[in-house]
Order: sequence, then C-alpha cells, then structure tokens
Amino acid sequence: MFAGTQETNQRLFYKLLVDNVEELLPIVYTPVVGEACQKYGSIFKRPQGLFISLKEKGKILEVLKNWPEKSIQVIVVTDGERILGLGDLGCQGMGIPVGKLALYTALGGVRPSACLPITIDVGTNNEKLLNDEFYIGLRQKRATGQEYSELLHEFMTAVKQNYGEKVLIQFEDFANHNAFELLAKYGTTHLVFNDDIQGTASVVLAGVVAALKLIGGTLADHTFLFLGAGEAGTGIAELIALETSKQTKTPIEETRKKIWLVDSKGLIVSSRKHSLQHFKKPWAHEHEPVDTLLEAVKVIKPTVLVGSSGVGKTFTKEVIEALSSINEKPLILALSNPTSQSECTAEEAYQWSEGRAIFASGSPFDPIEYKGKVYYSGQANNAYIFPGFGLGLVISGAIRVHDDMLLAASEALAKLVTEENYEKGLIYPPFSDIRTISANIAAGVAAKAYELGLATRLPRPENLVKYAQSCMYSPVYRNYR
Ligand code: NAP
Ligand code: MN
Repeated sequence: MFAGTQETNQRLFYKLLVDNVEELLPIVYTPVVGEACQKYGSIFKRPQGLFISLKEKGKILEVLKNWPEKSIQVIVVTDGERILGLGDLGCQGMGIPVGKLALYTALGGVRPSACLPITIDVGTNNEKLLNDEFYIGLRQKRATGQEYSELLHEFMTAVKQNYGEKVLIQFEDFANHNAFELLAKYGTTHLVFNDDIQGTASVVLAGVVAALKLIGGTLADHTFLFLGAGEAGTGIAELIALETSKQTKTPIEETRKKIWLVDSKGLIVSSRKHSLQHFKKPWAHEHEPVDTLLEAVKVIKPTVLVGSSGVGKTFTKEVIEALSSINEKPLILALSNPTSQSECTAEEAYQWSEGRAIFASGSPFDPIEYKGKVYYSGQANNAYIFPGFGLGLVISGAIRVHDDMLLAASEALAKLVTEENYEKGLIYPPFSDIRTISANIAAGVAAKAYELGLATRLPRPENLVKYAQSCMYSPVYRNYR
C-alpha cells in the first residue's frame, strides 16, 4: 500500500517517510525490501528503475538516454548477485536500488528526479528463479569473465559520457568477487562508492568509536573478531585499522594485527595465505588453525564481536557466554540482513550476556525487557551513512571518493550520539533525527573533498552544514491561504 504511493503520489510518499522515518524505514528498507525482492516476479505491477541487460550490449548509452530525467546526480546499481544476506536474486534485486534511492531522497534530501536506480541483468545462477514462470529477467546462467567485465565497462563509460564526471555511482549488493575489483578499477576514473564495503565500514567505525564511551579504552586497546570476511567484514576491518593507525601514528600493518576474521573455513591465519582471496590476505595473521567461532572467541579473546557473514543464528548461546565471560561489557554487532539472517537477536544478546552487552544490529529490533530493565538496541546500518555521504559529494561537486571522507563521515555520526542516547545503551543517534545527521555527515564529507582538492563547486561555502541543509529536497505541501 505505502510503497505503491511512491509511484502514484511521490510527494506524499516522501512526506510520510520523512515524518515517520523510524516506523516506515523497515518497509522501504530491510527487512521488508528483502521479501519484496524475493517475491518480485509475482507481485510485479509496474517497472521501477532502469534495467540494462546483456542483450543491450553495444547500446547502453542509447538505453540510458531513454530515461526521462536528464540531470542525474546519484545512480545506485546492482547486478543482483548478493541481495542482502539472501543471495542471488537476479534482476529481482531491483528492489534494492529503488529502496536505497528512496532513502537518498528521504534521509539525504537528494531530489527524487536526480536519482536513477539501475539493475544490470547478466542472468542468474538461482535455479528456482530460472524455473519460475514469473521470473522477469534473462533465463540464463550469469555471464562472467570477459563478457561480464566488458558489459560493465561499457556501462561505466556510458554513464560518464551521458551524465559527466560528477555523477555518483553507488555499487550495491554485487558479489564480493566482482565488488572489490569494480571499486578498485573505477575508483581512479569515476566517482564510485561501494556501500557494502565502504558505507558499512563507516557506520560500524562510528558505532565502535561511540561505544568506547560505554565500554572504555581507545580503539587501539580493543581486539576485534569478525564472523564473515567478505565485503562488509574486510571493509570494516580495514577502516578500523586505518583510523587506529592515524590515531596512534603506527603503520597500518601493525594496527591490523588486533583484528581477526573468521570465514566459512575458520579463522583466517597465515598457513591459509596461499589459498585466500586477495582481500583476505592482510588478515592472515600468525596463529594455529582454529575451526569454529566459539574456539576463536576463546583463543583470541576479543572485546568486540562483529557479525558480517549473512548467516543467521551464528552467535549462539555458547559464543555469547564465552565472550561475556571475558568482558565486563562486550560489544556485539550483528550486522547481517534481513532480520532472519541476523547473527543473534537483541533478546539473545542481552539474555546470554546477563544484560551486560552493548548491542546493535543491521535490521531493527524492538526494545527488550530483561529482569525488569528495558534495553534499547541501535541499528548499525549503512543507511545512517550513505545518504549524507552522497549528499556531501553532490554538494561539493566531488569527482572522486577518498578513504578520509569515510573517516570524516564516521566522525560526524559518532559526534551526534548524546548523553541521553548513551544512558539507554545506544551507540547511534535515533533515526528520527536523520535529516540533521545527514546534513552533518554531508558537511564533514564535503569539507574533506575541499581539503583534498577533489571538490569542483567553488568557492567553498562558509558554513557547510547550513549549505547542506539548504540543498536538501523537502516534500512540502504549500499553503495557499
Ligand atoms: P560477502 O562478501 O558474501 O561475505 C560473506 C562472508 O561470510 C564470507 O567471508 C563468507 O565466507 C562468510 N560466511 C558465510 N557463511 C559462513 C559461515 N557459516 N560461517 C562463517 N563465515 C561464513 O557478503 P557481505 O557483503 O560482506 O555481506 C554479509 C552480510 O552483511 C549480509 O547479510 C548483508 O546483508 C550484511 N550487510 C549489512 C550491512 C549493514 O549496514 N548492517 C551492510 C552490508 C552488508 P567465505 O569467504 O569463506 O565464503
Ligand atoms: Mn547492500
């Protein structure tokens, strides 16, 4: 019902979303967007966004020119191979770029007409979809290798040709074997941002920095253990290591050593180095092989446990009890989406830690009552970051993304956590303030863009927060009386 409003009455849709963001975010975003993608074929009514298929090779520029809006500022693009923690949903992944861009407008104030959701259909390896008569995409296995990279290269070239150098291309929910490569390849020639790697890293770093007020110590004092060493896991790990390195003036090779990751084969250790994907190699520290997360918790003794595996129920009672026996206040971040894939629930985190855990999760959980006390958990979700981050790039006319901008975004977000939030155990400010949060993040990012000489909108506005706010689209109803 509500989502349908987006197509029939855009202003009303955004007015409702902006005014009731905490209540409606779960509908346009995780967890409901996941279900919408899974059922996309059977609930399909009208197309949203732009589909580009393998069959359009050689004509992508023409296809882009068919989109009715000419001045595009932000593109969110997926190929549907790793939708949330739900896997390959082929072109049904369109729900993600559409949902993310709705948040760009509602949370970050980018005009709806300047947003372009794109799904690149290169086939799917999802057998269920291939055999589903209502599947609307190409009925073939995914194109890979040269065929894939040529299509993506044509796409990237066509986007720049059509919209210029300042259009932001946000990669979303690509499988990690393509995601890291695309980001590295186009990071030097285009304004690109991978939300799963970079946005997630920035939001988690902000949460960890804020949490230090509750758990004590500095970043360098903590030991991190991740379940999941893909885009989210290694992206977060790298940004934490980078920030720690800047704070302590220690080489990043050193600060990485207090960060450990577990993948589907166990703890990442040096003896596995030869068989690891390149993005895991920096994390292959000297250690005996360790097979399970529980064992890893016992031997690594982390103070912070991060779930970035996409597999639900993996922070078991034993794992959380072991973590809580080592730490007075364990920090637990269960990032996997949607709710079904969350590594544990808020209730489990508080119960099994006897109320001592500081907990945040990728998908929202209601407050929990445990032994007569109410526990609030925050949402560690990149939705805090990407709308403001993108806005900061747009308003400064940035032409490239730099890691220091991710750190600036983290810093801006962490600064907005109030005493009142901390008292409730929250490590993120409430989503109801998101427009102010986005303006502050945008200002931090834009300031960095100017500092680094990557901004083209000159002269630099004096007060960047005010400037960001003045640029934000608001769905207002005029009063004619
Ligand atoms: P990804 O690149 O596919 O990485 C998944 C990682 O988890 C891989 O390292 C994989 O191991 C590991 N893994 C899978 N099953 C496992 C198991 N049973 N035990 C241990 N490790 C296991 O995916 P991603 O992009 O990082 O995303 C992962 C999850 O994070 C998704 O659910 C996504 O929704 C969520 N996420 C949340 C946010 C947020 O803002 N909260 C942002 C981005 C992503 P192998 O490498 O051995 O295969
Ligand atoms: Mn994503």
